[in-house]
Amino acid sequence: MLYRKVPKTGDELSILGFGYMRLPQKKRGGIDEERAIRQLRYAIDNGVNYVDTAPAYHLGKSEKVLARALADGYRDKVRIATKLPPWSVRSKPDMDYILDSQLSTLGTSHIDYYLLHGLGNLSWEKVKNLGVREFLDKAKNDGRIINAGFSFHGDIATFKAIVDSYDWDFCQIQFNYLDEHEQAGIEGLAYAAGKGIAIMIMEPIRGGSLAGLLPDEIKKIWDDAPVKRSPAEWALRWVWNHPDVTVVLSGMNDERHIDENLRVAGEALPNSLSLPELAIIARVRDTYQRLMKVGCTGCGYCMPCPAGVDIPGCFSLYNAHHLFPHDRSAKFQYIGRHGGLLSDISYAGLCRQCGRCEKICPQHLPIPERLNEVSKEMEGGMNLIVPVLKTGLWCMDKIGQIGRIFSSYKIPR
Ligand code: SF4
Ligand code: SF4
Repeated sequence: MLYRKVPKTGDELSILGFGYMRLPQKKRGGIDEERAIRQLRYAIDNGVNYVDTAPAYHLGKSEKVLARALADGYRDKVRIATKLPPWSVRSKPDMDYILDSQLSTLGTSHIDYYLLHGLGNLSWEKVKNLGVREFLDKAKNDGRIINAGFSFHGDIATFKAIVDSYDWDFCQIQFNYLDEHEQAGIEGLAYAAGKGIAIMIMEPIRGGSLAGLLPDEIKKIWDDAPVKRSPAEWALRWVWNHPDVTVVLSGMNDERHIDENLRVAGEALPNSLSLPELAIIARVRDTYQRLMKVGCTGCGYCMPCPAGVDIPGCFSLYNAHHLFPHDRSAKFQYIGRHGGLLSDISYAGLCRQCGRCEKICPQHLPIPERLNEVSKEMEGGMNLIVPVLKTGLWCMDKIGQIGRIFSSYKIPR
């Protein structure tokens, strides 16, 4: 395992961080806790010393499973990163309440790396006006948190404004070879690094979409490369090639992927990719940009939709439908998953065009418009039953929405 230093403190962090947001699932649903605990401990035994969770992950269960995983002496071997959810905060005392609750849930005296979760312009203005900077100062002074940071989904101007607004120790940004110039991007990376801020990377494989099943054109480029690597390895090496990157988070839940990531994290030095290797990655990026219909990363920030649309799910299968034109299964999967045959109805045609989702989409996608395209292309006769399905789903979703927002920490009002 390679390690990189946090500029302001000298803390040495493994370049591979364990993202605890996509935990393994049991066949009948629910987190496979034993496996999730075993996987994290294995990674820690092999050098990982940074694990990232949040109250929103797995509806609050991620922090609880993490607490169990870090029993038996594992807590002392790892830095915990978790997050304050701005959407749950209405006052400064709420911040203290949530942090104290997290310390209790995690069974620890302090959070090593504490982030404001998913900041954009509106959420930053909100928490700033509620006194979040004073809260962070106090929490650092009394030892409840060691390092203060923020994760980010917004534009570069907002990113720079946030960087300049507080003495941050670290930040967390989305960065991969497809998103080099999206959100904070390479410009934000350099800007934050110039201020001595450690940079943690999320979505290095774009929610897995840069690995797994690949379009034929992309597969051919990788297959023709003189060096044989998996698409995931290429993607990770591209991120680690940047010297300003400190930790790359991977939401690992498969033992083979954990082993592969551990191996690569032992080799991927900064500036270690050659110019021909970088040119291969650039060709892949250009090809993806040409083939992709909707640039959804599957982050899920737009969910839940009050009308019940599985927004990332619909986009994912719509993209797959276009990226794999020889494979007709995406359309069948779409009807099965979103038409109500295999799970709850959640198809694009349910969209009521309320616009709520596009206000919070970090990719700034015109979601209702694109869902309209998805509906036309993927749904056919399904729209006949929309009025009936809408009513039932709206009621169910209202319950789901409340659960999503307040399931982790119910703040006394
Ligand atoms: S615009 Fe459509 S998809 Fe977006 S939240 Fe509203 S109903 Fe859901
Ligand atoms: S539509 Fe936007 S917010 Fe929703 S999952 Fe995709 S990228 Fe994320």
